[in-house]
Formats: sequence, structure tokens, C-alpha cells
Amino acid sequence: MRGLLVGCLLGLGYASMSVDYLIVGAGFTGATLAERLAREAGRKVMLVDRRPHIAGNAYDEGDDHGLLVHRYGPHSFHTNSDNVRDYLSRFTTWRPYEHKVLGKIDGMLVPIPFNLNSIEALFPAAKAKLLTDELVAHYGMGVKVPILKLRQNQSPVLHELAEYIYEKVFLHYSEKQWNMNPEALDPAVTGRVPVHISRDDRYFQDSFQCMPCDGFTALFKKMLDHPNIELCLNTDFADVRSVKAGRIIFTGPIDEYFDYAHGVLPYRSLRFDFQNKPVEVFQPTGTVNYPNDEAYLRVTEMKHLTGQKAADTTLIYDYPQDHIWGQTEPYYPIPGPDSRARIAPYVELEQRHKDKVLFAGRLGKYQYYNMDQACASALALYKILAKA
Ligand code: FAD
Ligand code: UDP
Repeated sequence: MRGLLVGCLLGLGYASMSVDYLIVGAGFTGATLAERLAREAGRKVMLVDRRPHIAGNAYDEGDDHGLLVHRYGPHSFHTNSDNVRDYLSRFTTWRPYEHKVLGKIDGMLVPIPFNLNSIEALFPAAKAKLLTDELVAHYGMGVKVPILKLRQNQSPVLHELAEYIYEKVFLHYSEKQWNMNPEALDPAVTGRVPVHISRDDRYFQDSFQCMPCDGFTALFKKMLDHPNIELCLNTDFADVRSVKAGRIIFTGPIDEYFDYAHGVLPYRSLRFDFQNKPVEVFQPTGTVNYPNDEAYLRVTEMKHLTGQKAADTTLIYDYPQDHIWGQTEPYYPIPGPDSRARIAPYVELEQRHKDKVLFAGRLGKYQYYNMDQACASALALYKILAKA
């Protein structure tokens, strides 16, 4: 990071440069690999990102009102991996934060993931008891049931409940988010937010749920502060192809790397609308989901996530949109049978080119990774590279 090259800024002299690793993308994946290869393995690394900043989609910065915001949508950190927690703890201290979400259903704000408290809020007491008893009898207390599984339940009472939850929580939200029916997606997508047969209102149940005290960008700055790392921002891979690198690690979209040789892969994008309100607290939880009527998908109040104190507050409204190459960001791979078929020839290309370039991360692997999964995969890849 110290060696922010003039050549990087001016686009000069790349042909004469030689590094052990050229890493494309300074998000969780690229930064973790750069840090490990530079600090632990003593390798010379050039890390490039076409954006003007580090931290990838986890990038945060102060807005015009002095409030820390996540520029690419709200990110809350959670993991069950001690390895990832311990690794990232070298670069940050943490503030405990358990993300909570309410969903606007039938004009009420009820806990999401949908759970026994949501049932009680939405149904008359006698009906709520019946539904709760049936759920507990069928699945047991504490069990999480993906909505697509619950819909297969033959009990008339549970079938009616499943159809209600499917319609009110999942159907229109997923249509907005993906422009697809939930049934057409990989079941793991809606399975990320299963129905909870419990009264646990937290969005995640991971053992470690915390936010970096000074934000994600500060964490990345510490990670990348090493003399073996040359960081080049505002630099596309296309600008540095002439660098002599022992290996390339590419964390951008795999179809882009291969010049769309087998067509473009499907991605979904979002538009973020940041709004500052002159109130101390705008909503009771970090995020409120709007599955049904509004054009936006969810509203996140940043102060819940960051713990900042201020008289005003900044919100992020997420508006799903199609991804258009060159115009929008490919935020989400779209997991489903169609994309599985379309990625297959790229996986073949990946295998053929693996001596020269390795693909990693959410876009390089076309995987719906959370931050901890991106970090865990990068640590796993590093282990293999360190042995080689
Ligand atoms: P990225 O962060 O996307 O980084 C890839 C980098 O590569 C980018 O900076 C890009 O500019 C760069 N790049 C691409 N192509 C090129 C090129 N040709 N040349 C140069 N640079 C290039 N995860 C959670 O755990 N919790 C959350 O709450 C959460 N919320 C999310 C909300 C949204 C809206 C989104 C989109 C994602 C969310 N995630 C969340 C997922 C999280 O963002 C990812 O897991 C993580 O960012 C993946 O890191 P990465 O390094 O693989 O990819
Ligand atoms: N989902 C939904 N309604 C909700 C919350 C989630 O239909 O209130 C579905 C939707 O398909 C969404 C998926 O579950 O894309 C995963 O939700 P998650 O909150 O994990 O999405 P992310 O935070 O990655 O955007």
C-alpha cells in the first residue's frame, strides 16, 4: 500500500514491472489474498482496482452529514468461522451488532425472518396458537424451515400458513429483487431467510456478529499497509495486462475476463438512494423490508449498523434494477439452473488457464458469497498457494 506507484497513476512503465502476483480487485477476496501473500509469504504483489478506493462492495465513507455510509448497500458482518473472525481481528476492533429486520406486511411491521413473533403480530390469538402448535409439532422448536419446503407440507393448516408467508414475504420481494419467481431461483436463495420456529428476531444466528469499530474501509487500510503490496486504484486490469506476473488472481466477473467468449452471465443490480432525515431515529431496526407495494426493496438506517450518534440520520433505499454492462454494477450473480448452464463453459476455460490465472470471489467464482465466505475462500486459496 505504501508503494502507491506513480506508474499506477499515470499508466506508465507497466511493461517493465515484474511481480509474483497481480491481483485484480481490492474487495474482501483480493485484499485478503494480497495481505497473506505479501505479509506471510513475502511475495511481491500488485493489487489493482478500477474503482478509486479499496474495500470493494464493503466500502464505507462519511457522507456530507458526517455519517458513515456503505456506498454499495448496507453490509453487516456475521460469521460462524473462528478462522475468519481471528484473521480479520488483526486489523480492527469490533462493536457488537446483531442485525434485525422488520417487514411491512398487511400494513404492519413484523420480524423477518418470519417467526413465531411474526405469527402473533399478524393473526388473532387463537389462530396464532393453532399455527404455532402445528409448526412446533411438525418441525420442533428452534428449527428453521425454508419457505419452499414449508410449502410442501401436507397439513392443511400449515399449507395455508405457507401460502400466506410465500405470498406476503417472498413472492413479490423476489420478483422485485431478481425479476424472477422464487421457484425459478436456486432454493438456497430464499433458503437464506428461512421461517424460524422460534422467537429469535435476529436476521442472522451466527456466533460472531459485529461491525468493525472504524468501518470496513479502515479495516482494509490496515490490511493493505505492507511494503510488498503495490496498490493501484483507478486501474483496470486492461491497463496492467503487460505487467510480468507469476500468477494473476482475478476477482472481477469471470465472463468479462474471457471477453464474453461464451456470452454474458446474468447479474442483478441495485440503485441506492441515500436520504438524510432531520430526526435522531427513523425506524426501529437496522433494516425494514418492503416486500409488496413500494418500488424499493428495503430501507436501512446506517446509524443502527455503525452505532454513530447524531441528531440526524442517513437512510439507504435499495431499488433493484437490471444489470447493463458498462452502466451498472454486477452486484448479484443470479443462482439458478439457467446461470448454472451458462457458467459451465467458463469453468472449463478456468481449468484450461489455471497456470496463468486463478479466479476467486463473488464475481470470479460467480457465487452468492457473504463477506465472511469471500474471506474464508481467499484464506483457503492462500493455503494452497503458500504450499506451492
Ligand atoms: P467485491 O467486493 O465485489 O470486489 C471486487 C472488486 O474487483 C471491486 O472493487 C471491483 O471494482 C474490482 N474489479 C472488478 N473487475 C475489475 C477489473 N477488470 N479491473 C480492476 N478491478 C476490477 N455480505 C455480508 O456478509 N453481509 C452483508 O450484509 C452484505 N450485504 C450486501 C449488500 C449488497 C447490496 C451486496 C451487493 C452485497 C452484500 N454482501 C454482504 C456481500 C459482500 O458484498 C461480498 O461478499 C463481498 O464484497 C465479496 O468480496 P469480493 O472481493 O469477492 O468482491
Ligand atoms: N427474501 C424475500 N423476502 C424477504 C427477505 C428475503 O423474499 O423479506 C428472499 C429474496 O429472494 C432475497 C433472498 O431471500 O433475495 C435472500 O435474502 P437476503 O436478505 O439474504 O439478501 P441480500 O442481503 O443478499 O440481498
